[in-house]
Amino acid sequence: MTRNETATSLTCAQAIEKIYEFLDGELTPLVEEHIRAHLAICRKCHPSFRHEEVFLRFLEQRARIEKAPPELRRHIMRMLMDEEAAREPE
Ligand SMILES: [Zn+2]
Repeated sequence: MTRNETATSLTCAQAIEKIYEFLDGELTPLVEEHIRAHLAICRKCHPSFRHEEVFLRFLEQRARIEKAPPELRRHIMRMLMDEEAAREPE
């Protein structure tokens, strides 16, 4: 079997972990792919934290983020999360 299978069997917690790994480490396409794979099949994880939208918006800023140190990446991610949380109390 291929290793790709692990990408689709991430748990929600593992997906979140990957996001932080992504923030701390390099913005590798492989990690991004793993996160995307999870978000594609799990749209309901963490109702209070809509990481799918946040993550996609985070990726939109990729050009800026790639030059940023991990600390700043986390800060940007945090800002997006706060924004997202404030947008819709639902
Ligand atoms: Zn999930």
